[in-house]
Amino acid sequence: MDTEKTYTLRDLETTEFSGTPLAVIGHPIQHSVSPAMHNAALAKLSATDSRFMDWAYYRFDIAPEDFAQALPLFHQRNFLGLNLTIPHKVQAMDLIKGVSPDAEVAGAVNTLVWDELGYDGFNTDGYGLSKALELDLGVSLKGANVMLLGSGGAARGAAVQCVLEGCAQLYVGNRTPSRLQELMHVIGGMSGGECAKTFAFSQLPDDLPEQGVVVNATSLGLKEGDPAPIDVSQLPSGWKVYDMIYNPLTALLEQAHAEGLPIGNGLSMLVHQGARSLEIWSHHEVDAHAMMTAACHALNLPPRHD
Ligand code: NAP
Repeated sequence: MDTEKTYTLRDLETTEFSGTPLAVIGHPIQHSVSPAMHNAALAKLSATDSRFMDWAYYRFDIAPEDFAQALPLFHQRNFLGLNLTIPHKVQAMDLIKGVSPDAEVAGAVNTLVWDELGYDGFNTDGYGLSKALELDLGVSLKGANVMLLGSGGAARGAAVQCVLEGCAQLYVGNRTPSRLQELMHVIGGMSGGECAKTFAFSQLPDDLPEQGVVVNATSLGLKEGDPAPIDVSQLPSGWKVYDMIYNPLTALLEQAHAEGLPIGNGLSMLVHQGARSLEIWSHHEVDAHAMMTAACHALNLPPRHD
């Protein structure tokens, strides 16, 4: 089977996926580097453990209106693991058998695991972010001051992770106030959630501590020419800036770099959320470095050595 191809619902109905198939499902999905990342890690795993020889990771373009029909078919066809990306992470919550407690609070799943009776859902985005902050910027979320930009799906996962890991302060801002309030409601229901407060992008909080990390979880920056969501020059000099967007370098990161602040982009989060998914499916340690190399290659980026 061709793991480079983008498959459809029709392919799922008509094709036999032998061995142990895995897949990412999204819409659109053709630019996803997940198959390259996961197949590189699977090649490493199968070099030392023959159990993984017949594992393969595919890419499926499934429209939101077809998702409820597609999921039982993936199950029937024995797809052991599925990664879900935009726009399926929330809809899947109502269609699966079980949800991990952190994914339940975040209200979204990105990793499904086959079980005889259906799929169980997990969310590895928060773990991916936490690992990325640690490796790229030397930031541990425990005790950290975090300024989170956004209140969409990715921001929800990030906020839940920040509170679960015990951040000191969590400043959350979003363009649309109603969505910001929804996220504050979620955080408010968590133990430790009292660390969170809101702010407006146009005016950063005036009580910012000397050190902290900004996490951009808005999609502002995805399009060329997008401005930075906040004025980086208002940050104290001990802050660091992480952008979940990995391609291209966003105005936020360019400005932070110009201010002399350490920066990191979302490639490391992408790699580590993927590595965690594969660990959940394989019950085996996964080579995240091989995944990073494959992701850089697929994105035509220079290789990274982390
Ligand atoms: P989403 O649910 O659609 O949320 C989008 C967020 O961006 C919302 O907070 C939205 O604010 C904000 N936004 C959109 N356009 C804006 C603008 N012009 N000005 C200010 N804010 C704007 O998307 P998502 O799934 O959370 O993804 C958010 C970003 O994270 C995307 O860029 C995605 O690629 C990235 N991401 C990266 C990884 C990774 O592994 N690196 C994983 C997940 C997501 P409103 O509420 O006001 O609309």
